[in-house]
Amino acid sequence: MAGELKVYDRFFIGGEWKAPAGTGTVEVINPSTEEPAGRAPEATEADMDRAVEAARRAFDEGPWPHLAPAERALVLTKVSEAIQAEMAEMAALITTEMGAPVSWGTMGQVLAPTMIFNYYADMAGTYAFDEVRAGLMGPVLVTNEPVGVVAAIAPWNVPLFIAAAKLAPALVAGCTVVFKPAPETPLDALRLAELFEGAGLPKGVLSVVPAGRQVGEYLVRHPKVDKVSFTGSTVAGKKIGAICGEQLKRFSLELGGKSAAIVLDDADLDEALPMLLGNAIMNNGEACIAQTRILAPRDRYQEVVDALSERMSAMKVGDPLDPATEVGPLVAERQRERVEGYIKIGQEEGAKVALGGGRPAGIDRGWFVEPTLFVDVDNSMRIAQEEIFGPVLVVIPYEGDDQAVAVANDSSYGLCGSVWTADPDRGLEVARKVRTGTYMLNSPIPIDFATPFGGYKESGLGREFGPEGLELFLEQKSITLPAGYTPKL
Ligand code: NAD
Repeated sequence: MAGELKVYDRFFIGGEWKAPAGTGTVEVINPSTEEPAGRAPEATEADMDRAVEAARRAFDEGPWPHLAPAERALVLTKVSEAIQAEMAEMAALITTEMGAPVSWGTMGQVLAPTMIFNYYADMAGTYAFDEVRAGLMGPVLVTNEPVGVVAAIAPWNVPLFIAAAKLAPALVAGCTVVFKPAPETPLDALRLAELFEGAGLPKGVLSVVPAGRQVGEYLVRHPKVDKVSFTGSTVAGKKIGAICGEQLKRFSLELGGKSAAIVLDDADLDEALPMLLGNAIMNNGEACIAQTRILAPRDRYQEVVDALSERMSAMKVGDPLDPATEVGPLVAERQRERVEGYIKIGQEEGAKVALGGGRPAGIDRGWFVEPTLFVDVDNSMRIAQEEIFGPVLVVIPYEGDDQAVAVANDSSYGLCGSVWTADPDRGLEVARKVRTGTYMLNSPIPIDFATPFGGYKESGLGREFGPEGLELFLEQKSITLPAGYTPKL
């Protein structure tokens, strides 16, 4: 894979590989070599029009929305098998696009999406799309129908995972989809389109059109789009929410985070820290759920800092394609500038760098930043409030469980978090008080795909995964029935 240029010159529009309307291209640069990794066309508004028209026709004229859910699910199962058959190649492709170490990426970037496809394929056979209720005045058929044409927009950090989180439930629901991947990661998205084509997805049901922000916004505003499913930054999410609000278009948002890991005073650090760090620096720290604020009891503060420093300094930084690597490069030069900017801001704010803070020695190319640990951090500092999106952690002292909860909640975000303790009852009490959509109690698993995932506050609106994730793509219709009539379901 390394050194091989992956080039697409067409979009997947309505099930066919179409030449772009414009001449723009997206150049994918391998973040660990700074060399070209591939190229894809960049969509214009005219390309989006074609994709939306195809999706509209396939929805309005069918047959896709009217097939049995189990029939639609067959395609997902085939796509999942096809991804599994090229697991290593897909992991390497995503790594060359955005730098995730394959040691984590094979599971997090590739196996996890196949689990999501399989989960929703199974749900097609179990979810009650139709239910006859005994209403107050007679029988009523409550039926769940597909919401219509979906615009699915994804970021670059876990590209295939987000594609699966949106496409799997949308397609099982019977929607048709225009998928806009981020310009940093068009290659895995177009490969996914090939796999959908190979799995026999009917024409028109899916389009994959890489594009930038402006054309993405054109897609959001498009009058023939019924629903927007967005994952990305809070800034973009607010803009998209405002547009959809004006149009009364359905929308769901999965946005940023600044999650707190609370180490209680009875925690066993040897047990907790490997799990905690696995989530804090997951995906090079470019994860919405990363636990980047570590709250330590004041009387164990130094012990927690020392234990974190010891483990973080042992992390292997380097070529993300090397299975021994734990931390790879950031996605782009501008992302490294952003992360280094925050390291500078932290120092100006009075926090101290206990570990890292620079570029790793001995690596002369690639957008690497050392795993970095800030101490003497107050939760009001920008490095404790803003999403850095890199391998930068802050350790904040607290006194007593109530203060730990208050500090965890003193954030505009509310996506994830964790608590580490010898006493699960005490941990559960803390977990219930923290205002986030997902939480981990002595657990290394941040998201279980059978359960709802999403954000409180500025971390989002709506829940992906579980049946709730399917319901994001359904409209409910109530049909009152004549007394004595029992519909065939
Ligand atoms: P981003 O918001 O800049 O871009 C995300 C996607 O939206 C890209 O495809 C981009 O082209 C598009 N986009 C941006 N502005 C748009 C607009 N106004 N209209 C339509 N499309 C627009 O985010 P990013 O830098 O690519 O990704 C990182 C962010 O994503 C982080 O904040 C991270 O926390 C968040 N994220 C959240 C989750 C979650 O599930 N909550 C998961 C992964 C990433």
